[in-house]
Amino acid sequence: MSHLLIDAGQIWLLNLAIVLPAYVALAVGVWLLLWVLLRRALQRRKIREATPPARQLRSEFLYSLRSVVIFATSSVGVALLARAGAYPLADRAAGWGPAWFWASLGLMILGQDAYIYWLHRWMHRSRWYRRLHRRHHFSHNPSPFSGYSFDLAEAFLMTAPFAYLWPAIVPTPWAVSLLFMGHQIVRNTLLHCGYELTPARADGRPWFDWLTTSTHHDLHHGHAGYNFAAWFTWWDRWMGTEHPEYYARYARAAGVAAASPVEQPA
Ligand SMILES: [Zn+2]
Ligand SMILES: [Zn+2]
Repeated sequence: MSHLLIDAGQIWLLNLAIVLPAYVALAVGVWLLLWVLLRRALQRRKIREATPPARQLRSEFLYSLRSVVIFATSSVGVALLARAGAYPLADRAAGWGPAWFWASLGLMILGQDAYIYWLHRWMHRSRWYRRLHRRHHFSHNPSPFSGYSFDLAEAFLMTAPFAYLWPAIVPTPWAVSLLFMGHQIVRNTLLHCGYELTPARADGRPWFDWLTTSTHHDLHHGHAGYNFAAWFTWWDRWMGTEHPEYYARYARAAGVAAASPVEQPA
């Protein structure tokens, strides 16, 4: 038993030592690059006119750090279960070659996108909204630090199924799970970065219209009844929950339409 505790502690510290500095470097790096160094150059790509106050950024950063600690803690359970032989499929899939490697990454991201869309819609309707998701919506005007500014329960719900269950059901090499984690942290931080960085077509729509953009998710923070999607736009489109002004807002933020002040969402 004491061996197990020591092992769990070591795995936890190792995970924290990797995940925490990686998240801090990413969030602070995005903030420094976009909000400080390139602030003037990117002026026309700022989604909102207003800039959130420093106290909001500090609070978001601390709550995001807490979520990252929860992610690192979840992976201790996964590591111990893996050692006990709970994930034979993951071990077997490691030898299935590059085609399955990338296919399993795509499947995992598609699965997470569907899960987040429906979980997100449920959290907004749930009578537990205040405990599950309210903290994230304290960020009316998001920043690079808002991505994981979650209530405790939300941080757990976001992580647990893909950390614990997915590798038990779908043969997913462990390296794919690591890439999956990296993808979600980078995309989520960029979705909240406050600037529209994706390339726009001449008609004002995104080149990759099937991917969510920072403007897409920014609209959710301004109008919580729309744009529940995480990585892809199709669930919002199939379910009729995409904000009707998305393309107009996107075009303005991407600097395609005539520059005019972006109206503050209600
Ligand atoms: Zn958000
Ligand atoms: Zn929400």
